[in-house]
Amino acid sequence: MTTTASAETPAPPRVLLTHHLRQLKLPTVLREYEKVAAEAARDGQDHIRYLLRLVELELIDRERRMVERRIRAARFPAVKSFDTFDFTAIPSLNKPLTLELARCEYVVARDNIIALGNSGTGKTHVALALGLAACQRGFSVTFTTAAGLVHQLMEARDEKRLLRLQAQLGAVKLLIVDELGYVPLSQTGAELLFEVFSQRHERGATIVTSNLPFDEWTSVFGNQRLTGALLDRLTHHVHILEMNGESYRLRQSKARRRKDPAPSDEPGVDPETGEITPA
Ligand code: ADP
Ligand code: MG
Repeated sequence: MTTTASAETPAPPRVLLTHHLRQLKLPTVLREYEKVAAEAARDGQDHIRYLLRLVELELIDRERRMVERRIRAARFPAVKSFDTFDFTAIPSLNKPLTLELARCEYVVARDNIIALGNSGTGKTHVALALGLAACQRGFSVTFTTAAGLVHQLMEARDEKRLLRLQAQLGAVKLLIVDELGYVPLSQTGAELLFEVFSQRHERGATIVTSNLPFDEWTSVFGNQRLTGALLDRLTHHVHILEMNGESYRLRQSKARRRKDPAPSDEPGVDPETGEITPA
């Protein structure tokens, strides 16, 4: 479609304006211009203020749309933030450091973050919250689990599109690899994962969460040399988040039980934790 007005039947200005604003991709101006014009007339504002208001509204909306797009592209399994994170539940976690990291300077510096701790201590929650903060500050993010990433890499290799996937993984500003250590990797899997970390080294920030302390990482990668080289790269510029403590879920279900004791006098099994509950 061209934007030149037809000579025979000149389109009314509103029709043309709608068309031009669509073409310029200014949906908020299109939606708001009449309402804001009425307000400007009521308040006796000049044209410049009217235009400024419309442009501001478009900018605010555009920023919001971009954050939403980044969040969708990140493929978070859930959207979680630090607003819902209770730091008192995990005293081993350095709160000032964590909140400092939420400002995302490590993304610019291309540093890494490794969150270590037993199951249920909020590692995934913190990784998601850091990922969300990065999306809000304008960085591209990809969230995946170690097992999921290895699966994707193997599939891409079989379908001869490994280079393209590697390029994508190398280009994202923040890569989050959750749950390293839950599943031991095959040799090929370990090598492919190593390559990802290696290619990102000093080129992009990476967050890794693991239930295993570093000295047990060899059991995941199955190879001491590879593990050594990997740790060397990952820990070169790294912020470590110590997250050992009581499982948050376990603690919550215990608290629930204290408040609301089971009516039965038979011992039972907590459905969430599998723990035997005394009568
Ligand atoms: P991990 O990844 O360390 O196994 P998760 O992050 O999956 O633990 O936490 C388990 C559940 O408990 C999640 O629903 C998470 O949101 C919640 N959770 C864990 N720690 C906290 C916390 N300190 N404050 C609020 N919610 C928490
Ligand atoms: Mg987790």
